[in-house]
Amino acid sequence: MKNPGIDVDERGYYGRFGGAYIPEMLHPNIEELRANYREMTADPAFKKEFDALLRDYVGRPSPLYYAKRLSEHYGAKVYLKREDLNHTGAHKINNTIGQILLAQRLGKTRIIAETGAGQHGVATATVCALVGLECIVYMGEVDIERQAPNVARMRMLGAEVRPARSGSKTLKDATNEAIRDWINNPENTHYIIGSVVGPHPYPDMVARFQSVISEETKWQLKEKEGREHPDAVIACVGGGSNAAGAFYHYLNDERVRLIAVEAAGLGVDSGESAATSVLGTEGIIHGSRTLLMQTDDGQIVEPYSISAGLDYPGIGPLHAFLIDSKRAEAISVTDEKALEAALFVTRTEGIIPALETAHAFAAFEQLEYGPEDVIVVCLSGRGDKDLATFTKYLDQLKDRDHE
Ligand SMILES: *Cc1c(COP(=O)(O)O)cnc(C)c1O
Repeated sequence: MKNPGIDVDERGYYGRFGGAYIPEMLHPNIEELRANYREMTADPAFKKEFDALLRDYVGRPSPLYYAKRLSEHYGAKVYLKREDLNHTGAHKINNTIGQILLAQRLGKTRIIAETGAGQHGVATATVCALVGLECIVYMGEVDIERQAPNVARMRMLGAEVRPARSGSKTLKDATNEAIRDWINNPENTHYIIGSVVGPHPYPDMVARFQSVISEETKWQLKEKEGREHPDAVIACVGGGSNAAGAFYHYLNDERVRLIAVEAAGLGVDSGESAATSVLGTEGIIHGSRTLLMQTDDGQIVEPYSISAGLDYPGIGPLHAFLIDSKRAEAISVTDEKALEAALFVTRTEGIIPALETAHAFAAFEQLEYGPEDVIVVCLSGRGDKDLATFTKYLDQLKDRDHE
């Protein structure tokens, strides 16, 4: 059967993006994974266990919900793919379940991960508790302070949260610490990366685990609309894993527009942004050749977005390829527009979306479409974690009214 996605070549490239640019000392770890991931995950016993956990533990299939009031407002048929209803509240658990099963088959007993906002850390700590493996999550010291509730969840789940104290003390520093740990513990440790980033085979492997999103969308749309394909899929992009999953089974179907929404932060030209496809140039970050925000001499530019999940200076190589080849359209959305959209969606449908996801909804303002168009939005996660930010926003709105 033809692969429904876009296959990476042997060395892990999508066109000229991807690959595995890693220090020599990491080569054995990556090679072990690369040599095994396709065969192990294609094994019927693996699939059976993966599917059973997605069903009974995560709660899949996630509903494809026809959003009546949003549809009336936007003037299109809007469906929401409800990844927010998954256990732990976002799409990230699809990937961590897949990787923990793979780690077990590779005979690993110790799991490490990096996390920024803490969502991937929580999803990793959760699956480690599920199978009883040791879990160490690296997190920037600054993020540990900013994301206290998720730190508490990880500790409750039995994970050790190790602070990264170098550099800006945020995600990229936590990633460096995790890589250092892996180099020192190649035998017993698996590194669970949380998005479609990093050296080959991670981008392809994570995209495949997340592809369950569009696999379900196909039959769910068939039931509701009589056809498997929508006219457009909209998803927010940090590293790009929920977008990769939502796009996957439509990548080769040119009838489907693929819309990748990035965080513009305070504005694309403000110097405080994370709109990688606009501001990025080709380079190497965390082991792959992709688009990233860098200075002329190759130093990584600190990204900014109000949403911690989109606050990443690169995008996965698949998305760099899709955008570069014009298969996907990139749209950027500011903090302000995302907050507006979050409030609007909440009050129109009674669903509080994650701030990351709110960026995807705000994209409607910038798109053209007709009333019969079927548009699927990947509702990547729920907004409980963002309530402090939303509360501040509501207070600001109230103050503005009083002026
Ligand atoms: C982490 C996260 C994202 C961004 O990550 P991707 O890999 O781009 O999907 C988006 N939405 C939510 C809810 C997240 O937790």
